[in-house]
Amino acid sequence: MAHLASQAIVLQTSDYAEWDRLASLYTRDFGRIRGIAKGAKRSQKRFGSALEPFSHVDVFFVDKENHGLIRLERCRIIKMFPEIALDIKKITFGNYVLELINTLTPEKVKQTEIFDLLLFFITLLGQEDFREELLRIFEFRLFSLLGYQPQFLHCVGCGQEFSLQNRYKFSIKRGGIVCQGCYSQHTELLPLSNGTIRIFQQVQNFTLLKVKRIFFSPAEHEEGKILFDKFLQYHIGKKPKSLEILEQLT
Ligand SMILES: [Zn+2]
Repeated sequence: MAHLASQAIVLQTSDYAEWDRLASLYTRDFGRIRGIAKGAKRSQKRFGSALEPFSHVDVFFVDKENHGLIRLERCRIIKMFPEIALDIKKITFGNYVLELINTLTPEKVKQTEIFDLLLFFITLLGQEDFREELLRIFEFRLFSLLGYQPQFLHCVGCGQEFSLQNRYKFSIKRGGIVCQGCYSQHTELLPLSNGTIRIFQQVQNFTLLKVKRIFFSPAEHEEGKILFDKFLQYHIGKKPKSLEILEQLT
């Protein structure tokens, strides 16, 4: 039995038994963890309001070997993001980000870059000038960190480098762009303009701190949105619940 501590972002919580809460968190040092916070509903001292989704916390927990669920001992708030809770659009965007992390990341596998990406986007979401298209950048980065980086630099058929003189479509199955000369060898291709391809090339090259400099036209954003929606469903086999709510809202 090990007593552990880490920074974390709370992904999801629900009531469990009379006084307990069940929580899922993405920690900086241990990846995604799930556990029970015994007596959380009456212990202001140990948890307070720290176990709310989006909270950035220090979490202290006990991990019993060979046991999926951990035991949450206490949480200390580092930062809350009240701006998110005040805006229905931000809540919906944020829930989508949390659901992707909760669904796609393996349990108890440390990936510090995923924690940093999540914290960066939650912070960005709390800012006034957050735009929906920044979610496409989050998706691209998360897929890349999970090993499914979409290929926008070369045709996945013939390997030729992207050229503005050529035309392309996107293969969900192969996870990358396909040039005109290779269309006939692929099925289920999505239309994709060269402008959108260029944007995702920027997304790949820019550091996170510079992503706010990336702007999509409405048509490019629509293409990117459809592409990631299909790409995501191909990899997880279903549509995330929060994405359906997001589509109804936007
Ligand atoms: Zn090709």
